[in-house]
Amino acid sequence: MRVVADLDKCQGHGLCRMSAPDVYGATEDEGQVIVKFSGDIPEELEDGAVLGVESCPEIALSIIED
Ligand code: SF4
Repeated sequence: MRVVADLDKCQGHGLCRMSAPDVYGATEDEGQVIVKFSGDIPEELEDGAVLGVESCPEIALSIIED
């Protein structure tokens, strides 16, 4: 499972990284999301990754199942 971010939608609220700080970070300037894993999310972090996707009010995060 991967997560991709649409930075045109991300408003930098930070709810995703509050839900799963091991999966989501933020740029220093505008606070836009950084998905810490460009490939598969480690299995033990998948639940948090999904929580982060569900917490985003801008629907900027998408799950991609391989
Ligand atoms: S919750 Fe959504 S809009 Fe907010 S920083 Fe995360 S991806 Fe961006």
